[in-house]
Amino acid sequence: MNIYEIRGQFPILSRKIDGKPLVYLDNAATSQTPRCVVETINDMYFNHKSNVHRGVHTISQEATDIMEATREKVRQFINAQSTSEIIFTRGTTEAINLVASSYGDSLYTGDEIILTVMEHHSNIVPWQLLQRNKRLKIHVVPIDNDGNLDMNAYEDLFTENIRFVAVTHVSNVLGTINPVKEIIQIAHRYGVPVLIDGAQAAPHTKIDVQDLDADFYCFSSHKMYGPAGIGVLYGKEKRLSRMVPYQGGGEMIGNVSFEKTTFAELPFKFEAGTPDFVGIAAFGAAIDYINSIGLDNIADQELLLLDAATSQLMEIEGMRIFGTSDNKNGVISFLVGDINSYDMGVLLDKLGIAVRTGHHCAQPLMKRLGVTGTVRASFAFYNTLEEVNAFTQAVARVAKMF
Ligand SMILES: *Cc1c(COP(=O)(O)O)cnc(C)c1O
Repeated sequence: MNIYEIRGQFPILSRKIDGKPLVYLDNAATSQTPRCVVETINDMYFNHKSNVHRGVHTISQEATDIMEATREKVRQFINAQSTSEIIFTRGTTEAINLVASSYGDSLYTGDEIILTVMEHHSNIVPWQLLQRNKRLKIHVVPIDNDGNLDMNAYEDLFTENIRFVAVTHVSNVLGTINPVKEIIQIAHRYGVPVLIDGAQAAPHTKIDVQDLDADFYCFSSHKMYGPAGIGVLYGKEKRLSRMVPYQGGGEMIGNVSFEKTTFAELPFKFEAGTPDFVGIAAFGAAIDYINSIGLDNIADQELLLLDAATSQLMEIEGMRIFGTSDNKNGVISFLVGDINSYDMGVLLDKLGIAVRTGHHCAQPLMKRLGVTGTVRASFAFYNTLEEVNAFTQAVARVAKMF
C-alpha cells in the first residue's frame, strides 16, 4: 500500500490551514472522499440522470441498473444472503429510526429493551421516542473503567420482558470494539432480536452479518469514503417482511386505491419516494475503492497509527485517555490536565490539526466518564506517521501553554 499515491486521490488532504498542512484526524465524524467517488457523481449527473425503477427509456434503465448494482455490492460487502435485505436510507440515524418505528410497532407497553451506556444519540433517542408512545422500559448496560461492556450485567438483564437489544459495534468515543457476536448469541438464546449500529465498524473491519447472525445492521456511506446522505439498513428477510412500512409514498407500493393499498416487495417496501440514486451510485464506487485497498490493509495501517499516537500522547504530563480496551480501533479520546476540550481543539486547529471536541453525540457516556467533553482524534488509512507526530507534538505544545 503506497500511502502517498493513495493521498493523491484525496485533494483535500493537500490543503493548508493558516499556512500549515492540514492533518485531518476527524475521520470518525466523516471520512474524506477519493476522486473516483466524486467522478461517479459527475458521471451520474452528466450521463445517467433519470428517475429509477419505472422508466422504459434507456437512461432510466441505466440509472436503475447502477443503483441495483450498488445494492449487490453492499450485499457482498456485508455478506447478506439477499439484496432484499439491503435497504437504502439517509444514514445510520434513519436506519435506526426505521427499525425503532417499524419493528417498534410490534412492541407493547411493559416490554423492555436493552441499550448500552456507550451508544451514540442516534441509538438512544429513536428508542426514547418509541418509549413515549409505548411506555417501554430501557435498560442500559454499563462499562468498566477501560471502556469494555459489562457482559455479566448484560446477561443478567434478560427476563421474559426483554424484547429487543440495540448495541453499537464500535464506540465512536472509546474506540471499543464490542463482542457483538457474543452479544447476539446471548440475546438469541432468549429469542430476542438484535440491532447493531455499525457506523464506526463498517469503514474499518470486515462485516459478515450471517456469521454475526445480526437481525439488523446499520451504517453510513459518508464514514466510508462515500457521499453524505446515504446509509444502509440490513435486516433479516424474515424480520423485514413482517414489519410495517416506515414511510408511505411512491416506490413502496404494489397497488394504490382509496379502498385498499398494497405494498411493494422487499426491499422497496421500505424505500418510499425517489431515492438518492446519484449518492447510491457513488457509494458503490466507494465500496469498490475500499475493496481495492483491502480492509485488512486499512485496519493494519489504522492500528499502526493508533499505537504510535497512544504511546506518544502518554508521554505528555496530565494526559488522560478515555477508552483503553485491548480491543479498540483507531479512535483516541483524551483530555490534558484541566484544559477544556474546546480550547484544545481551537488551538490544535491553529496548528492545522483537525480533531473533534465535545460530547461526540454521546452525553450519557460523558456523564459516565465524569466529563462534559473530550478531544477526539480518529484515524483513517490515508493518515501517516508524520501526521501522528505533528498531532502529538501539537498537543504537547498546547499543553505547555496552560
Ligand atoms: C456517526 C454515527 C452515527 C450516526 O450516523 P449518521 O451518519 O449521522 O446517521 C450513529 N452511530 C455511531 C456509532 C456513529 O458514529
